[in-house]
Amino acid sequence: MSNADPHWHFTNGATLRVGTLYCIGRNYAEHAKEMNAEVPADPIVFLKPPTAYRKSGSVVSLPSWTKNVHHEVECVVVVGADADQVSEEHAWDLVAGIAVGLDLTARDIQTEAKRLGSPWAVAKAWSGSAPVSNVVPLETAGHGPWQLQCSVNGSVTQNDTTNNMERSVPQLIRFIANVFGLRAGDAIFTGTPAGVGPVSAGDVVQCSLSSIAELTVRFA
Ligand code: MG
Repeated sequence: MSNADPHWHFTNGATLRVGTLYCIGRNYAEHAKEMNAEVPADPIVFLKPPTAYRKSGSVVSLPSWTKNVHHEVECVVVVGADADQVSEEHAWDLVAGIAVGLDLTARDIQTEAKRLGSPWAVAKAWSGSAPVSNVVPLETAGHGPWQLQCSVNGSVTQNDTTNNMERSVPQLIRFIANVFGLRAGDAIFTGTPAGVGPVSAGDVVQCSLSSIAELTVRFA
């Protein structure tokens, strides 16, 4: 399973082909504040292709065309069934498992895109921009809340509970399924808490979701 055909790796040995990665912007009020932005009325959604995915332990090459890549640690919900519509009440039925991931962001490119009113695709969806841990099956992970943590070279930069999400996992699943349709293998990056910051070549970033999932990425 090379990166040409990326798969989720579950802690019970199961695998699932990586589909579309749906990412939510500004889902924690304190992060919206640090970006000088408001929590919007409807979720901000942007997409990453399967080629953005990397497994834990990967070395991510920082693109030459950005001078400022930020880490954003996020709880990642991996979808295990197809649905074109779902209620919040039945949303968890679609979830195969939970993981911790990084929504790596070329902040300089994103800031310019915001200024111009242009899409965020280049800033957000480049090859290697979505490292994700092994996936914990839902029956083991439960429904949360979980503690999200990110450290750079051993110093903690982000540390918050998923309880502080402005929109819950079922609310996000209902919204995305009803707008786009969800398929097994798709995943939702549920937004980042405050404390985002830059990474450089040589840095080691470690992320955790409570004590159930861990992600390590080296940058080159
Ligand atoms: Mg994010």
